[in-house]
Amino acid sequence: MSATERYLPVFHDLRGTRVLVVGAGAVGARKIDALLAGGARVAAVAKEFSAAVAERAARGELTVLRGAFRPEQMEEAELVFAATPDRALNRRISAEARRRRVPVNVADSPEECTFHLPAVVRGDGFTAAISTGGRHPGAAKALREFMEEHREEISVRLERGRRRKRIAARKGKVYIVGAGPGDPDLLTVRALGLLRSADAVVHDYLVPLEILSLAPEKAARICYARRGRTGGHGAALKQNAIHESMVRLAREGKSVVRLKSGDPLVFGRGGEEAEYLSREGVPFEIVPGITAAMGCAAAAAIPLTHRERSSSVTFVAGHETDEKGGSAVAWHLLPKDGTLAVYMGVGRVAAIAEDLAGAGFSPDIPFAIVESGSRPEQRVVRGTLSDMSRIAAESGIRSPAILFVGRTAASLPYENNEETSDEPVAQGV
Ligand code: SAH
Repeated sequence: MSATERYLPVFHDLRGTRVLVVGAGAVGARKIDALLAGGARVAAVAKEFSAAVAERAARGELTVLRGAFRPEQMEEAELVFAATPDRALNRRISAEARRRRVPVNVADSPEECTFHLPAVVRGDGFTAAISTGGRHPGAAKALREFMEEHREEISVRLERGRRRKRIAARKGKVYIVGAGPGDPDLLTVRALGLLRSADAVVHDYLVPLEILSLAPEKAARICYARRGRTGGHGAALKQNAIHESMVRLAREGKSVVRLKSGDPLVFGRGGEEAEYLSREGVPFEIVPGITAAMGCAAAAAIPLTHRERSSSVTFVAGHETDEKGGSAVAWHLLPKDGTLAVYMGVGRVAAIAEDLAGAGFSPDIPFAIVESGSRPEQRVVRGTLSDMSRIAAESGIRSPAILFVGRTAASLPYENNEETSDEPVAQGV
């Protein structure tokens, strides 16, 4: 490393640094401004000062030393700038500074410098310095102009990098992530990123292998299946065991993805888990997913709301309460002019049909059951409330399935010809 390459400072913060500037013409004045902006304590030597510099001096912002340069003015300097129009004088200043081992910069004379000032580009979230060691000022200028033109793009790229790093650096944390209804294409970008960098995945029986396989092979996988169901993904664990395993894994410094079908906060116990983690002081974050009602509605072209047919959508749990006493839902309180999306209800369609009829829902109101929505094995059956239990029984609909009730649940008034069309389907990227 030669002497000229030793210093490439970016004057971000010069607070308190004593700097001597010799010469206060256009170049010197520019240096003075930049140094003062960086917080330096500036003394300037010149025979004459511009009104602007003199004004700043009068305000006490810098010291002006009127007259010729004298070597002892360097006594306390930590940096020296020579910016006089007199080349020989600049050379003398440089020699004197070097003798005193004070870093010196001479305007337009790289060989007299022990450090060079870089061209600086400032953008949103970054400050970049460009230096060619004083050898190619034209190139430095061109690069600066180029970067200035691309300032926004640079900021966007840097932010993207920072975000990636944040994902990679986040350790010892639980991500309560929604996996959507089953189609891996319906994962969020965030869910995908977290899955790909997970150390451990704790998941529901409803999350398909296709999604679980997106996690690294070496990531631990723990399956939680409710009520003894194992779903083929390993041992079933009870909710408190899940809580404990998440905390343990996070405390080992792992990035734990708690993967839930649909959205974690819709019939997913995401709230309970967040409360537990919060009590235990384990950092966590909730990442939303496409809930089954939305995924299945889209798959079966059921508008959850519709200007003429539904002005509300209600997500209800169709299973019974754990305490004996039947349904957890007050059916008679549900709006009859909206769309009901009944989760976990296929096991008791007949009872739900009775509950709805008892609550005053019309026998003619349409229903649709979407089984395994968004997955290759998806099935949709439709009818009206009066026929619901018969149709559900005859079609052998099984969990996971969601039941829609409302005028919106009827088939579209025209055929959805996607299946029969040979036309390529344009897909958004
Ligand atoms: N948190 C999930 C719901 C979990 S409760 C979500 O937001 O979607 C489990 C119930 O979700 C199932 O009984 C079923 O009613 C519904 N469900 C989940 N995935 C489904 C799918 N692919 N197709 C139809 N119903 C689904």
